[in-house]
Parts: sequence; C-alpha cells; structure tokens
Amino acid sequence: MDLIIRNGTIISSKEGKQADLYIKNGKIDSIKECESYKEVPGAKVIDAANMLVMPGGVDVHTHLQMPFMGTHSTDDFRTGTIAAAMGGTTSIVDYVIPKRRESLKRALQNWHKKAKGKAIIDYGFHMALVPPVDRPVNEFEFLVESGVTSIKCFMAYKNSLMLSDTDLYRILAKAGEHNILTCIHAENGELIDYLTKDLLKQGKREPIFHAYSRPPGIEDESVSRVIKISKMTKSPVYFVHLSSKGGIKEIKRAKGNKQAVFAETCPQYTVLSEHRYFAKDFEGAKYVMSPPLRKYKHCSYIKKSIKDGVIDVIATDHCPFNFNKEKRRGLKDFTKIPNGMPGIETRMAVMFNEMVVKMGLDACKFVELNCTNPAKIFGLNQKGDIKPGLDADIAIWNPDLIWKIKHENLHENVDYTPFEDYVVTGKPVSVISRGEIIVENGKLTAEPGRGVYISRKISGSAYS
Ligand SMILES: [Zn+2]
Repeated sequence: MDLIIRNGTIISSKEGKQADLYIKNGKIDSIKECESYKEVPGAKVIDAANMLVMPGGVDVHTHLQMPFMGTHSTDDFRTGTIAAAMGGTTSIVDYVIPKRRESLKRALQNWHKKAKGKAIIDYGFHMALVPPVDRPVNEFEFLVESGVTSIKCFMAYKNSLMLSDTDLYRILAKAGEHNILTCIHAENGELIDYLTKDLLKQGKREPIFHAYSRPPGIEDESVSRVIKISKMTKSPVYFVHLSSKGGIKEIKRAKGNKQAVFAETCPQYTVLSEHRYFAKDFEGAKYVMSPPLRKYKHCSYIKKSIKDGVIDVIATDHCPFNFNKEKRRGLKDFTKIPNGMPGIETRMAVMFNEMVVKMGLDACKFVELNCTNPAKIFGLNQKGDIKPGLDADIAIWNPDLIWKIKHENLHENVDYTPFEDYVVTGKPVSVISRGEIIVENGKLTAEPGRGVYISRKISGSAYS
C-alpha cells in the first residue's frame, strides 16, 4: 500500500522542513509542500502534525545470537530486530564471527541461517577475521561478491580473537586491494592480559577491576598504532566503540592529516561513567563490556567530539547477557563476566535526548550520525536518509514526549537495561520499513521474517 505522511517536519541529513512525503512501492517517491497530495486514491494517509519525520536508524554494530565466552548473546534475529524496530531503527549490520579455521564462506552461511525467517527489519553483515588469517585473506573477493564489504580485526582478547601487528598489516594491505573497509577493535590485548593477571594475583576480583585491567591508555596506544599501520598500507580504517579522550584525539590528528579514518562511539560511552562498576550486589557486572565505561571527563570529551564532527557514527555494540544468569558466571572473578550489554532499542532515544534536547544540536546532525553516515560508510546505499529513490525506512517521532526508560517496557531479550530510569525527551511512535508500517503508535504491526538481507556496496566514504 502506498503511504502519504502529511504535515510533519521532515528531517533529512541536510535540512528540516514542513512537508508531505509520498511513499510508493516501498520507496520514497517525492516530497512536496503540505497538502499537495490530497487526491491519491488507495494511499493510506498518516497525519504527522507536530511530529518529526526522520529516516529509520541504521545500527552498524550489533551482536545477535553470538557465541562468546562460553555462552551466547541473548537476543536472536527475531527479538533483537523487534527491539530495534520499536526503538526506531530500521537496518542493522551484524558481525559474523567465524570459528577458528572455519572458512569465511561457511561462517557467512551460518549467520544467514540465524537471520533467515526471523528478522523484522533489513540486515547486513560484517565479517570478523580471527587467527590464523592465512586462508581468510584469500576469500576477500568472495566477501565483496556476497555483499560483505567490511571486515573486523580485534587487537584485544589475547589467545582467542586477537591479531598480531603482522596479521593486521597483511589484512589491511589486502583489504585495500578489494576496497574493503576494515573495522578495528582498538585495545592493546597484550597489556590487558598482563594487567588482568596482575590484578587477579592481588585478589582483585570485583567488576571495577575489569575497568582497571583496561585503562584508557590501552585504547589510545592501540588506536595510535593502528593508524600508523593503516598509513603504511594506505588502507582506510574504522574504529568501533571509541571510549577514551586519548584515542579520539589520535583520530582527530589523523583526520587533520587527511588520513581515511572513521570514528564510532556508542550511547553508553557518552552518558554512563565508570562509577557504575561500584554498584552494590554485583550490579556493576551489568556494565562490564570492552572497552569499559570511563571517568566522566571522557564522556564530556566524546560529546565535544560529536559536536566537532570527529565522531562519524553512533552505534550500539548491542551484545546482551542476563544479569541473573550469564553475568553471574563472574561473581567471584571479573574475567568470567561475559563482556557486553544491551542497547539496540534505546540508542535512538538516548542520543536524540543527548544531542538534540541537551546539547542543542540540529536534528539533522542527529540523523547524520545515527542514520546517514553509517549507511554511507558501510555501503547501504538505499538506506539512511530521506530523499526520493531511497527505501522508505522512516521513523515518525514525537519530539516533545517525556518518558522514563524502564526495562519492563522494552523488548530486548535480557533481564535489565543499563539505562534504567533514564529520563528522555522524544520517542519514535511509528516506524516504516520499505513502505510497510511495522510499528504503529508504539505497537508492533509486522511479522518476523519480513526483513531482507542487504547486499552492501563498496564504502561510499572510504573509497570514493
Ligand atoms: Zn562489538
């Protein structure tokens, strides 16, 4: 069914204006002055007076049903994408993590199986490279042909996912030949390993020591090293989940030198700080993830970097584990707490509140970092903005609604939210994916399985 969204304020990455939007065959057909489309037979009309009409969110960092630290992240492609949709997100890019010595082809098939018939919104995949990397680097052509145009390298997690500098150099050189964008988890895994063992030796086992085992310098050093290696190989890099002032400063400098470097952060590093690890009754475990939360001065610097344009993308690193189950494995030893937390449903609201309501930034800037840039950087060419010809992926927002985030009202398949009792202004009320209304006035109206795989193009920002 075709749709007409009337009387709303349309916010694209470029401008905000009052207008009507016409959606035909799942695509944005045209945008015209209010009341222009009175006579379109058969089209459903949505009145968006006093509402913002924004692109649906694009979350390029998720881990659904991911095996990790002896367990699985608890959201699968059904629950995870339902939660995303309820929060105003209409596309995700999930990380495929191959098993040791598994071919990339096999790993990709495995992830397609996880998603098929379950996703409610569209999804794409990144591919992680785990050691040994001799064979995987020969599968890059296959990746690009399969619509996977980005890979991920972990500089942390010694003896499991961590790659050596030599591995990274080889991968970057080869990725550049295929116009693949390399995502980097930048933490110095060698030093984390040393510091962790040292803390355990001293009997320091509570959640706060997770943060002390990976201080900010661990990220700064790794970012700096990777930037230099990427310069040598002339290949662009994209840093995921940046958390530290020093790390972001390194990126600012590289960008100043015209190096192709992209920066992602997440809501948690912007609004939550390290003191959470001191919460009583093991509750600090809820915030155990890597990199860890930082002191508040880092949060402030991240906000400044969002404003200054150093941060390109806000994503979630959604990787939930139940507090009363999986997280309990680490009750007596922080190294056994599965790393990760939920955020797929709350990203858009938390960031709208932070960027537009509190920092006073233009809503276009919010759209740019949460929708347009992630789509452009990762080759989701049909997504991430409002203009004729693109997929009609839209979130209609009530910008004045004040509400409190409560776990009991969310749809993430996990027993807590790290943003409990956080008060925000602005909420997506209806969500449209390829012209289909999937959330209407806060109610889910679509069936799992309607989401389709997004075969991604070469990065429009890194290789243009
Ligand atoms: Zn991640």
